[in-house]
Amino acid sequence: MAKVNIPKFKLNNGMEIPALGYGTWLGMNDKFEVKMEDLTKLVDAMSYAIDVGYRHVDTAHLYRVEPEVGLVVRRKITEGVVKREDVFITTKVWQHNHREADVEASVRASLRRMGLDYFDLVLMHWPMSISVEGVDEKIDYLDTWRGFETVLQKGLVKSIGVSNFNLSQMKRLLAHCKVVPVVNQVEINLNLGQEDLVSYCKANNVQVVGFTTFGSMVGRAAPATLQPKMDNPTMLALGKKYNKTVTQIALRYLYQRGVATIPKSISKERVLENASVFDFELDNNEMATLAKFDVGYRTEKAPFWQHYENYPFEDPGVATFEIPLSLRKWKDCDNYEFE
Ligand code: NDP
Repeated sequence: MAKVNIPKFKLNNGMEIPALGYGTWLGMNDKFEVKMEDLTKLVDAMSYAIDVGYRHVDTAHLYRVEPEVGLVVRRKITEGVVKREDVFITTKVWQHNHREADVEASVRASLRRMGLDYFDLVLMHWPMSISVEGVDEKIDYLDTWRGFETVLQKGLVKSIGVSNFNLSQMKRLLAHCKVVPVVNQVEINLNLGQEDLVSYCKANNVQVVGFTTFGSMVGRAAPATLQPKMDNPTMLALGKKYNKTVTQIALRYLYQRGVATIPKSISKERVLENASVFDFELDNNEMATLAKFDVGYRTEKAPFWQHYENYPFEDPGVATFEIPLSLRKWKDCDNYEFE
């Protein structure tokens, strides 16, 4: 079987995070329901990912897949493929668990669902606090962060971090926290370079983990004029030079910027392809050329959250519908009683 060797980035607490991990969000269909029909394929692809050498898995309470993700990890431990300490497992606390004490309840529930004793990393999924009814609870994320510091102190998690925090939210958090987050997980790709945020995080020893790293190149609606697309001549030429695909060029670019990535795929072929980006190097001119695709275009704006306190993005556009139910209430994963 093919194998990949994935390098690691050092975190500010001395731990190491593999520079590329396996994302587990199944995505949504056009009715804004999670594509649970792909769950079996996700389980197979994730098993394969660990077999070929992935050692980092990204999941969340929201994703409804914690039980299956936990099962795969435990199975791979039983099979002797990995030891628990070899795999870096991240989960996230959803928006309706932002009261300080609810953070611990959420983390304990995630541990139970996954059948694990600890997480390597737990993230505050968003800076906003929203109840299952869609009410803006306006809980300050600094208060929520104290709940994160508590689960760290209690040993339920080895490190704590945030997600979808913008630059001013990061500055405010760092000015007031006892424990500096190890990670800020944000959308980052060729069209959304996040230069200021990445520079600030680097200067302050916070590792950036990127999601939606293919941006609008893969499976997302985007303006016809937005480049690169999969047939972009610059990308194809780089792919030809290094014998890589366009998506591999995109992932390699982020790695060379010091950003960890967590591409999701339910295809074994693409699982292997995505992790096969550590055997070539883009030169400085090529990095500069790719940087020019950064036009600040965000794929995931979630405009339905724009009026909630601490919504992090500028220019959300027009909200044409309310928060999809699947982002507030769902079966299983501990809030089934709301369904
Ligand atoms: P990705 O950028 O990983 O894109 C996933 C899509 O790309 C799927 O349609 C997948 O299809 C396809 N794909 C994967 N690899 C390739 C390839 N080599 N060539 C062509 N197509 C490919 O997007 P996500 O938005 O899922 O982000 C990745 C992960 O980040 C998530 O799974 C989740 O863990 C995390 N995330 C975190 C968020 C947060 O708020 N913190 C928000 C969104 C995501 P297929 O499966 O068929 O291969």
